[in-house]
Amino acid sequence: MKLIRGSIITMDSERRVIDDGAVLIDDSVIAGVGYFNELREAHPEAAVSGSATDLVLPGYVNGHQHLTGDRLIQSSIPDDLPPGDAIFKWAVPIHAEHTGDDDELSATLTLAESLRNGITSTFEAGTVAHPERVVAAANRVGARLTVGSWGWDVEDGPFAGSPDEVLDRQRQALSLRDGKLINAWVTLVGHDLMSDELFVGASELARSENVGLTFHLSPSTSDTEAYKQRTGLAPLVHLDRLGGIGPHVKIGHGVHLDDEELRIVLDRGAGVIACPWAYLRLGQGTSQSFRHLDLWLAGGALALGCDAENAGDMVDGIRTAALFAGLAKDTTMDPTIFGAHDALELLTIRGAVALGVDDMVGSIEVGKQADLVVHDRTRVEWIPRSDDPVLQLVWGSDGRSVRDVYVAGTQVVADSTVVGVDVADLAAQAQAAGASLRSRAGIG
Ligand SMILES: [Zn+2]
Repeated sequence: MKLIRGSIITMDSERRVIDDGAVLIDDSVIAGVGYFNELREAHPEAAVSGSATDLVLPGYVNGHQHLTGDRLIQSSIPDDLPPGDAIFKWAVPIHAEHTGDDDELSATLTLAESLRNGITSTFEAGTVAHPERVVAAANRVGARLTVGSWGWDVEDGPFAGSPDEVLDRQRQALSLRDGKLINAWVTLVGHDLMSDELFVGASELARSENVGLTFHLSPSTSDTEAYKQRTGLAPLVHLDRLGGIGPHVKIGHGVHLDDEELRIVLDRGAGVIACPWAYLRLGQGTSQSFRHLDLWLAGGALALGCDAENAGDMVDGIRTAALFAGLAKDTTMDPTIFGAHDALELLTIRGAVALGVDDMVGSIEVGKQADLVVHDRTRVEWIPRSDDPVLQLVWGSDGRSVRDVYVAGTQVVADSTVVGVDVADLAAQAQAAGASLRSRAGIG
């Protein structure tokens, strides 16, 4: 048993905040939440960590993250390329050259950064080739991970195949589920890169295995136009007519949805993951048509994602939440419409609901998994402390003040250092692996 002390932002159904509170951890689960003095008295044997000035939150949820393909060449794809070049001239050739060792190293670094910034649950947007190596990385650093295998049946894409071959690989990825920290979803690349046959098969597989199905959809207007030329319909309208959209579907992006598509998302109970830094870095027009806010206001299922290290780059949930709040206010010119407290909801419990994991994570409640983030409020950005810690967390801080992180009760970040892996030890290896990848892919 251990007690984690601090001001507790529970994100429970009453959204309780407990000053000088504590969370009691028993093995992997939360066994108590309350005032520190009372829990201390009731459990004198429990080891105490932290102090009254700390801020304790449920672990942050990142609903869309590439763990392979970008990390080893992070912040290297120029930010002034025409649309499409970043993906087809850089990302795809790099994906084609990824070895198993690259996949594991890449995922280790991304997940280490995630934990360091308080992200305890990561949903992968699709491993290039070796999902079992990504699972090995997650186990090494102690992250909670939903893994997926990059599935597409377009001609000559790296690791593309026939619908049957792709679905076989999806089944293999699903077999990586361990009933503990590792889950898996059916994961396709995107609506422009899958046949109807593959989409229908993938949706059936996800439904029969009771897992999510995720894919990229309409991050930019050009995706939608190409799709309309092929099918005569907006992407989600077409996919819905195939019968494949339901609560199991978790759409990556959905930046450019028309009204009918938004209605389909709501009626079918599908989730959408918004990655606002990617849209800004890539100039995809989210500020022109902020449908994610419309979805939120209509009570839809929405989560946040950090996307990729060449599309948003930093893996920091708080920074993402703040940007989302700013876009909501600015695009509507209405500062009352969405605030820091809403943004924290997206990063924790509402994100967990959208991704179907709120029975396990997303809030600090007895019986849930002990995934906790502790912010050190002795750092200068927290001095003096606001009376509203959530306002200060979202607008006045970021992942840098994360000091301790627990996943399923195990401490995975201690004193701002990742426990499971010595990140500095990986620096030379990562530098060399990135240079080798670029040279094999014929880039730069
Ligand atoms: Zn993505």
